[in-house]
Parts: sequence; structure tokens; C-alpha cells
Amino acid sequence: GTWFKQEAYNKWVNLQIRFGKNLSKEQRKRIVVVGTGWASIAFLSHIDITKYDVKIVSPRNYFAFTPLLPSACNGTLSPEACMVPMKYFTQRGSKTVMEYLEARAAFLDLEDSKIQCEEKDGRKFDVPYDYLLLAVGAEVNTFGIPGVREHALFLKEVEHAREIRNKMLFNLERANTPGVSESEKRRLLHFVVIGGGPTGVEVAAELADFLREDCKKAFPDLLPYVKVTIIEMLPHLLPTFSEKASKFSFENLSSIGVDVMLQTQVTRIDEQQLTVLKKGSCAVNTVQNKEGGQLESSEVTLPYGMVVWASGVAQTPFAKSLLSSIPEQKGNRVIRVDHHLLTHGAKNVYTLGDCAFLTPPKIENLADVLFAEATHHPSKAGSDFLSEKAMKGLHLEFPQLKENKWHFKKKPRRNNMTLDEFKAYLKEIDNSYVSPAPTAQNAKKQGTYLATVFNSYLSDTEKLHAPIYEETWDGSMAYVGKDRAILDLPFTSVCGGFYSGFLWKLVYWKLVYSMEAKLRCLQDWFKSRFSGRNLGR
Ligand code: NAD
Repeated sequence: GTWFKQEAYNKWVNLQIRFGKNLSKEQRKRIVVVGTGWASIAFLSHIDITKYDVKIVSPRNYFAFTPLLPSACNGTLSPEACMVPMKYFTQRGSKTVMEYLEARAAFLDLEDSKIQCEEKDGRKFDVPYDYLLLAVGAEVNTFGIPGVREHALFLKEVEHAREIRNKMLFNLERANTPGVSESEKRRLLHFVVIGGGPTGVEVAAELADFLREDCKKAFPDLLPYVKVTIIEMLPHLLPTFSEKASKFSFENLSSIGVDVMLQTQVTRIDEQQLTVLKKGSCAVNTVQNKEGGQLESSEVTLPYGMVVWASGVAQTPFAKSLLSSIPEQKGNRVIRVDHHLLTHGAKNVYTLGDCAFLTPPKIENLADVLFAEATHHPSKAGSDFLSEKAMKGLHLEFPQLKENKWHFKKKPRRNNMTLDEFKAYLKEIDNSYVSPAPTAQNAKKQGTYLATVFNSYLSDTEKLHAPIYEETWDGSMAYVGKDRAILDLPFTSVCGGFYSGFLWKLVYWKLVYSMEAKLRCLQDWFKSRFSGRNLGR
């Protein structure tokens, strides 16, 4: 497993430090890693510290295992089960081999190759670098909707999971006190999740599990007042998953009592109610007009006791400040990097994870060369020729040609093109490229890729000739409640079934980095299953 491999690797590195040919401190280039999320941690776990001098800067001195955060919202897991302290990554065995600095990156000085950092109390200091890795992640996207920042809770950090759990328990206790009116009880116990992506679905599922299993025993009189609602703007939940998975998530959530409102957009949040704009009809329709007819588009208000906002990601203020300070990045919404993850317009600065937008080299620029080569091909210039070239390895240089980006087999075959038609075709392929999604899986893979490149290619020029980052997909998972999960895999899709919840747990358990967190997960899962979740705040 990952833990075992990590331990074996640590031992190997210790031996190398003791007996191997280490570069001296002066010879080792300085790498500064900004952030302690998925991309950074993957990089730190794989980088060869006998070749580089590594420093980490981040205001958070632990790694948050984000896929398990929804389980901490209802007390299935304790927050500590989702945390791995930085010392786990900065030490190899008992030896500290990297320096962690608890501070926030505030300003990047490209000219002098140093990053200005700021501690919590405002004290500033500079950290010089030879290579800088920016992996500052992303924050929740509020789309500028009024009231979201003031009244909604987010789920990006361990602290947020604590807040959600505390708010839910507070509302239950409050509704349980004498003298609270029926309508107030209904409002307090209406838990709304906004966004039907994986975060929203998992939070709604975990809240519903808690209310069905624990609230039933602890607050039986409140059950008739309790409701969980999930609101999604699109016509289906989990839009990035397969259609089957999407449908199953809807059915399973509905079966455990979650009110699923589709094609409904939240437009405003006030202190005790939110406003939604409902478009067309939806399957479970709590805001349908009285005659049960379909509504074209109508504004409705819903009283709530707690709102969790999970509507996707936006860039952090630091990433935004970089966009305006690097001339080549002006006008971009996300930091653009090439396929070595090297930031456009910033020498030796790599950006990875949720704050990076990959832009491959344009294949359109190769139109003349490819067109000349295609004259010897039986179908001349066109899709057949290009698909063959891609299979023979052109996709390694131009990832927009990969089967998962440009579906040659699904698109109509177009051959015998003129040069102009061929150029337009290549331009269409260039423009269709979509950067990898901001997922933990992609961030982790980018971190591992970069560490491998750094370990194998020492000089700046060598690094430029390293193989480019190749996007791959191992599958996606989501918990949908009542011990059921969805596992969308490259060749099949598992939706529910007796073992799906167990498989979901097993995969994440294997991925949790430290043995301490693994043991906590086991302990918490057993405790929640056999003696109920913790109801204390
Ligand atoms: P998301 O972008 O996947 O989904 C957000 C959803 O919110 C969208 O479907 C959008 O239509 C909806 N939405 C936006 N504004 C709305 C509004 N005003 N009213 C109603 N609905 C609105 O966001 P996420 O779930 O936070 O995930 C962020 C990223 O992290 C994604 O790339 C996701 O794939 C990844 N992620 C993956 C997993 C997993 O695979 N298990 C878990 C968590 C996150």
C-alpha cells in the first residue's frame, strides 16, 4: 500500500543520506513549495532530497484529506482522521529533511527570485528560490451571489467541517428547547446544500445519514421537522460523472429522504431564507405551482436553518494577484502553464493543482509540415492521418490529440482536406482542449510527475526536455448515502450495491497518508457504526 511504499522509500533515502553520494548543501538547488494540499504533498513525498534543498511555505501546518471531509460534517469521522501533520512529510524516518515555514505567500518577486511571506501576526520575510512551486489550490466560487459569504458555510478545510457539524447540532438543540414555534422548528431544521457536484452530493448524503440514524434516536420528536435539500442549477446531479451514476445518485438521495431540486438556481441568501430561480420542471419539485403545472421560470423563497455552499472553485487572492503582476498572464482567469507545468512568463516557477490551467503548444503551427507529410498517406490530410499520427506518439507532444480530449472515433471522418481546411481542422482541435479538472486526483498526479522530472533531470535545460505531463484518469467516486457509493471507473461504473460503501471506504483508507490517520479512520468508522456518532459539540 501507499503507506508501506512510503516507509520503504523513507528508509532508502535515509540510507542514501548516510552512505550515498549526496550533493552538498551548496550544490543542491533550492526548491520552495507554496501550499500543503494534494499537489504539494505528492511532490514532497517523491522528491529526492539528496539532490535538492526543499522548503515549504503554507499557513496550514497539516495536509487535509479532502475526500473524507463530508464524513467529518456529521461526526462519522473525527476531524483528526482527515489531517496529516506536515512533520509526516518533512521527515524521512526520524530525520527532518525539509523546512516547513508557517506563513502565507504574499508577493512574488520574479526579478530577484524570491517570495515574500507573511506570518499570521503580519511579520514579513523573504524566501529565495531556484525553483518555485505554486500549489495554492482554490477557494469556493460564490459567483458574487449576494449573501453567500455572510450566511453560507463552505467545505474546503477541516475547520469548515467542524463548523457544519456544530451548526447542525446547535440547530437541533435549539429546536428541542420549549417554546419554539412549529414554523421556527421547520426553519431551523431545514439543511440546504447548494451545488449538485460531488461535494454537494456527499454532504447531503452524510447529513441525511446522520438525521436518519442518530437524530432518530436522540431527537425522535424533531424528526417530522427535519429536512435536507440539495439544489442544483443543471438538470442532473453529478454532471461530470456518467449518466448512470448521475441517475443513481438522484434515486438514492431521494430514497433516503433528501429533497432534490434540479434546474434551480440560488440567486440570493438572506439571514433566514434563500431565493431560488426555478427553470422548467424538475423531478422532485418542492416549488411547483399549486396546479402542479410546469413553471417556465419562477422565483421562490425557502426558509433555512443552515446552508452549505458547494458550487465549484475559484482562484485564491494570491493566484489572482500573480495574474495581474505577470505581463504574459494578464487577462487570464487562471494561471497558465505549459505541459511541463512551467508558468508562462515566470522563469523557473511551476504551477500545479487547482490553480493551474494547462495550455498545450498549438498544433495549428505545425499545419504545413503535417500537410506535406500527409500527401504520402492514402487518405491524405485529415482525421485518419492525424489519428494515426496521434497513436504513433504525436499526442505526447500535443495532448489535445489524446483520445480522451479529441474523440477521433466518435467524430465524423474527414479526409482529403485542402491546406486551408486542414489548418481550420487543427485550429478546432486546439480550441477544443480543456485543461484537467481541479480534482485531488489531478493535483496529486501533477505533483508526482514534477517530482519525477526534478529527480531525473537536474539542470534547467534538461528539465525543458523532460517528457510532458500526460493527463490520465483512474476513475471518480462519490458517497451517496445509506452505505452506497458510486465508483465511475474507466471501463465500468459501479452504482450502489451492498459492497459499494465498503469499496469506497477501502479506496480512501488506502490513500490516507499516515498510519495514525488510517487508525483513526478505522476507529471512527467502527464507533459510528456500532455505537452511533458523537452528538457533543
Ligand atoms: P462542481 O463544480 O463539481 O459542482 C458544483 C455544482 O454547483 C455544479 O453542478 C453547478 O451547476 C452548481 N451550481 C453552481 N452555482 C449554482 C447556483 N447558484 N445554484 C445552484 N447550483 C449551482 O463543484 P464541487 O463539487 O465543489 O467540486 C469541485 C471540484 O472538485 C470538481 O472538479 C470536482 O470534480 C472535484 N471533486 C471531486 C470529488 C470526487 O470525485 N469525489 C469530490 C469533491 C470534489
